[in-house]
Amino acid sequence: MTIRTRFAPSPTGNVHIGNIRAAIYNWLFSRHAGGEFLLRIEDTDLERSTPAAVQTVLDSLAWLGLTYDGAPLYQSTQRARHLEVAEMLLTKGAAYKSDKGGTGKGEAIVFKMPGTDISFRDLVKGEITKKAEDLKDFVIVRSDGSPVFHLGNVVDDITMGITHVIRGDDHVENTFKHVAMYAAIGAPMPQFAHLPMIVNAQGKPYSKRDGAAYVGEFQDKGFLPEALFNSLALLGWSPGDDREVLTRDEMIAAFTLDRVRQAPSQLDMTKLLWMNGQHLKRRGVEDLVAGCRAAMQRQGLWREDIDPAYFQAVIMCMGERIRLYSDLGEQAAFFFTEEYPYDEKSVRKRLLKEGALAILREELEVLVALPEPFTAEATDAALHSLAEQTGRQMGDLVHPVRVAVSGTGVGPGLFEMLAVLGKSRVVARIRRTLALYGG
Ligand code: GLU
Repeated sequence: MTIRTRFAPSPTGNVHIGNIRAAIYNWLFSRHAGGEFLLRIEDTDLERSTPAAVQTVLDSLAWLGLTYDGAPLYQSTQRARHLEVAEMLLTKGAAYKSDKGGTGKGEAIVFKMPGTDISFRDLVKGEITKKAEDLKDFVIVRSDGSPVFHLGNVVDDITMGITHVIRGDDHVENTFKHVAMYAAIGAPMPQFAHLPMIVNAQGKPYSKRDGAAYVGEFQDKGFLPEALFNSLALLGWSPGDDREVLTRDEMIAAFTLDRVRQAPSQLDMTKLLWMNGQHLKRRGVEDLVAGCRAAMQRQGLWREDIDPAYFQAVIMCMGERIRLYSDLGEQAAFFFTEEYPYDEKSVRKRLLKEGALAILREELEVLVALPEPFTAEATDAALHSLAEQTGRQMGDLVHPVRVAVSGTGVGPGLFEMLAVLGKSRVVARIRRTLALYGG
């Protein structure tokens, strides 16, 4: 039997990460099994399912590399088939007509629950049962003749030969209805796997207010598709060892549903940024250079006279501090201009502190006297010996220089930073800072 999964989004104009994670699991599961992954667009809400909304789904899939087999099935094209099955259920006595609301607009078709408890074995949650008395009959065709979600969803899964339905937790209640429908229709039942919700730090469903919740927002923020893919795959699943940074192929090889957790998974933006940094590193220096450069162009910080070797040295110096391409421009713009701003708080705390400017003056003398090459080892040794001679702590020496040459109290390792900036820039910057702050 060919394993066949599907992604069945209702296009709304945005693709929530919870939905795309379901797509990722369906994709990984079918690729692992050498099966097929199909796409069905549940576009029966004609007001929301505009061509643009459908395109957003297709773009998100393409960006994440979620390739699907065959052409997408548009649910709206299947209406005749849905109604045919509803008629068949009427004939079998598994459904009945009702004008319950007494609207006079026509009769709805209602599915009749079998009157017994319903159970199914969920591949994540195990056996789940719902009592007969909690299972109510439900409408499958509205009085205006339009099929309801449950009918379209089940009939299309049968038409497409879906063997495994992997979807969000919020569909568990629907699945009891669907299980009854499969039995009444007499179609082979797929296996079901319901995925835990993605929640925020407070344990509430993850939403737009928690940062970014849609695929397009992560793309706009500059996340790499492989990093978002990897992060979402690990939200509720693990490869069974301590690997975290994984390629698509590694995930395909390791993916099984029995390692999907039942508990809700918390999306942590810091972790996601870390993951992006890891994947940036994997892409290599050339990609990092091109990406940071493009980001700086967008930020209006790029200048054509930036020396390529210097640019690369800055990137290497920033190292893992670059988690998004845009981080370079945001955190390291001072490398590329002599008009870098001074952060007020750092100035107050590090430069205007009692004795700090005097220390900076001594440091300037020591650094000016250093011969080229102005290496990290050389400045490190020079400032250490100054600390020793004057009986001061290294901390008292490190901070004033850092703020002087970068305008800020945070950044890469001081001595690496001084080496990249080079002696003439460092000396000029310290002199300028001393003049500015009255040293
Ligand atoms: N259109 C439904 C949704 O997006 C499909 C659910 C399913 O996967 O069956 O929630």
